[in-house]
Amino acid sequence: HHKGHGMANDILVLAETRENAIPGFVKQGLSLARTLVEASGRVICLVMGPAAGAADRFRYGADRVLLASDPALAGHTAAPAAALAAAAVAKLDPALVLLACSALGRNLAARLSVRLPAPAAMDAIAARRTGEGVIASRSAYGGRFRQDLVLSCPASILCFRINVFPAAERSAEGSVEDFSAELPPAAGRELSFAPLPPGRVDLAEADTVVAGGRGMGGADFSLLEELAGLLGGAVGASRAAVDEGWRPHCDQVGQTGKTVSPTLYLACGISGAVQHLAGMSGARYVVAVNKDPEAPIFSKADYGVIGDLREVLPALIQCLKRQKNA
Ligand code: FAD
Repeated sequence: HHKGHGMANDILVLAETRENAIPGFVKQGLSLARTLVEASGRVICLVMGPAAGAADRFRYGADRVLLASDPALAGHTAAPAAALAAAAVAKLDPALVLLACSALGRNLAARLSVRLPAPAAMDAIAARRTGEGVIASRSAYGGRFRQDLVLSCPASILCFRINVFPAAERSAEGSVEDFSAELPPAAGRELSFAPLPPGRVDLAEADTVVAGGRGMGGADFSLLEELAGLLGGAVGASRAAVDEGWRPHCDQVGQTGKTVSPTLYLACGISGAVQHLAGMSGARYVVAVNKDPEAPIFSKADYGVIGDLREVLPALIQCLKRQKNA
């Protein structure tokens, strides 16, 4: 699929918005775009919805910021965002379209891929430019294989995993331009996203995840809720904890759950089955609390506490509270 016109060297970064703001992971996408863009290309950031602080994108790698503030985008649903992104691609003819693998991003990438049509590399954990095009790497078969996808068609879509690519600042300024397109009326079948309660972060985007497994033994997950609150993180769970009905499936981490890449992953009463590890092996630091010194999770942990979580967690909570008050 080659359009054969234009100078397809630009990279278009799609920035979703929430509550009138641009989520932090968009900075990661812009910085990634900076590392991939050719000397003759520009990084163009399309802000999809009303948002304050759009000009801040220049500091993270954008050469141009386009602001689309159509009220249809405020519902954070993928259909209008896909129509908008497709119109931007038609107008700008970018070499690559970059967006985060958030809940909306996944949905949007798939729709855009069909609309354009263009190939999409989902959940990329590495990317580099070569003579052939951009090569996106993803983890496959529960982390046993790494798959490299060559993106050489114009407007190929790269959906990057959140919290994997660093956000680097640079000094740059520019002006924000308006962008608009004909958007379809809201589709009746699509549900809207309910915003999280204030102060809570989405599991897949969290910088800190505290996860509980069967070892929680019905012990109150409110301990983990409290811990997550103190650390500004999210609560996750193993499949065993989900099967027990202690947590909803949307909290499951692993091969058949969510993939998380936080800076800190605290695994409480989780043995460390390969299917669980598949969802959290991208964590920078793993801390495990387990009463069994032979538990496989310890071989993946940077720090391990051998002990009963019913003693360790309350002590940890006390400690953090003391630190907060100090
Ligand atoms: P267990 O393996 O039972 O481990 C409980 C741990 O808690 C033990 O290590 C024990 O020593 C410790 N413990 C017990 N009491 C205490 C205490 N009081 N204090 C401290 N430690 C204590 N699993 C996932 O998590 N995510 C997935 O997405 C997933 N997908 C799967 C897909 C397939 C196709 C299959 C076959 C399996 C999948 N599984 C998945 C299941 C996986 O194989 C494991 O069964 C599951 O991860 C085990 O959960 P767990 O570690 O909580 O429980």
